[in-house]
Amino acid sequence: MTNISILGLEGTAWNLSAAIVDEKDVIAETTATYKPATGGIHPREAAQHHANHIAEVVNETLKKGGKNINAVAFSQGPGLGPCLRTVATAARALALSLEVPLIGVNHCIAHIEVGRWKTQAKNPVTLYVSGANSQVLAYRAGRYRVFGETLDIGIGNALDKFARSAGLQHPGGPKVEEMAKIATRYIPLPYTVKGMDFSFSGLATAAQESLKNSTLPDVCHSFQETAFAMLVEVTERAVAHTGKSEVLLAGGVGANSRLREMLTLMSEDRGIKFYVPQMRFMGDNGAMIAYLGLLMYKAGYRTLISDSAVNPNYRPDDVEVIWR
Ligand code: AMP
Ligand code: MG
Repeated sequence: MTNISILGLEGTAWNLSAAIVDEKDVIAETTATYKPATGGIHPREAAQHHANHIAEVVNETLKKGGKNINAVAFSQGPGLGPCLRTVATAARALALSLEVPLIGVNHCIAHIEVGRWKTQAKNPVTLYVSGANSQVLAYRAGRYRVFGETLDIGIGNALDKFARSAGLQHPGGPKVEEMAKIATRYIPLPYTVKGMDFSFSGLATAAQESLKNSTLPDVCHSFQETAFAMLVEVTERAVAHTGKSEVLLAGGVGANSRLREMLTLMSEDRGIKFYVPQMRFMGDNGAMIAYLGLLMYKAGYRTLISDSAVNPNYRPDDVEVIWR
């Protein structure tokens, strides 16, 4: 096959992004970010933002590198329904007008595959931590299995929700990280790991309560220490169970340096490798969708228009991995 290039569209939540990827690299990428004026992400407002910007984002990207597109890939889920539908509609229209196949990809798996592509990780346990998602995943017998996941809200949403209640603006994660640096003590907060799953909603509420008697930096620090210890515990147990020798970090919360430090310590302790992709490939981005689209395209995968409905609860373990 000659050099294949895929146009990928991402728009599951706050970030609208289009990218063209070929077998060597990312050729072009354009992004438009929805920023709520107040409060958190409002699904319909975010979808309206994507509808307003999709034409310019796609045009820019095609202008930068849109020769001989072989297929159009898009995030079919998981994500916010109104956002997913807006971007899927654009993807269908583009595939029809460019007369190329459509490829619906799973957003979580795209995070893993772009991480494997952009680091040296071959067969890692992945900790995927974003606004809405928190999962520990690993490849086994033809699928990305979910070894552990949140029972309620994602770690990013928990941080954002707590931060909002403390008067910090969205997105709260980076602000909590800054505040935590000037903390002077640790306050015990609920540590909830059930089997291999974790839960953050009670922790967010308890942290909010603690603000009555403790300083904001101390609560931020304690929130991070508690939540990240839960994530690292489950990741470590998945490593022990699967016998894998690599850990990969994915998702926007992966920007946090304390989380990285804790994962580094755990990995050193166990004598395994820890991989962190460049920041632009950690949060939601079009390149990861285009790249997974490329892998699937090469493996012969195609999505018929009639099968291209979005799935807000699309699970990574629903996907048969035919490309590795
Ligand atoms: P994503 O959904 O993958 O795009 O990631 C967005 C989430 O990452 C939001 O909930 C942010 O608050 C969170 N986030 C971004 N930077 C940081 C950070 N440095 N520490 C913790 N959370 C962060
Ligand atoms: Mg994501």
